[in-house]
Amino acid sequence: MVIFFIITLGFYGLWWMHQVNKQVAAGTDENFSPLMRTIGLLIPIINLYFLWKFSMSSEAVVDQMASWSTMRRHLVDCLDAEKEPRTAGTDWERESVDIARRQLVEKVNDALSSYETKGEIAGATGADVSVQVQLSCPECPTRRSLTDAIAVGYVCRDHLGNIRGTE
Ligand SMILES: [Zn+2]
Repeated sequence: MVIFFIITLGFYGLWWMHQVNKQVAAGTDENFSPLMRTIGLLIPIINLYFLWKFSMSSEAVVDQMASWSTMRRHLVDCLDAEKEPRTAGTDWERESVDIARRQLVEKVNDALSSYETKGEIAGATGADVSVQVQLSCPECPTRRSLTDAIAVGYVCRDHLGNIRGTE
């Protein structure tokens, strides 16, 4: 029984080492015969050299796995970076309105200087120009500035929805 056990274990151990050697051979750039290495493990003293070679090759495989995980991390970072413009993009509306507002102020100032030159509005260029976007309900006289609408979450509570459910 004991002898059978040792023989089986020995055979299984050898088979296992051979499988690992084959995988190591496939997993690294190293060019060696998995069979030669497995046979080498059977020879006393010589097998120490093959065990050392085996551990070196295994490390190379582990290094490759590490570089794979590094690559995966870079990939994840990359995907996160791709997501970023979308989250930062929640402010694009505000920015877009700001650009329009600035352009409008510029045009109005041009018009004002012309009015002043023509004598239609005295001292027009001295005035401060402010632009406010007004949102009005088509059903009732409710009016709300865009900023206000963003703050409360609706334009007209009665006619244009109440998304946030603040009743
Ligand atoms: Zn309304």
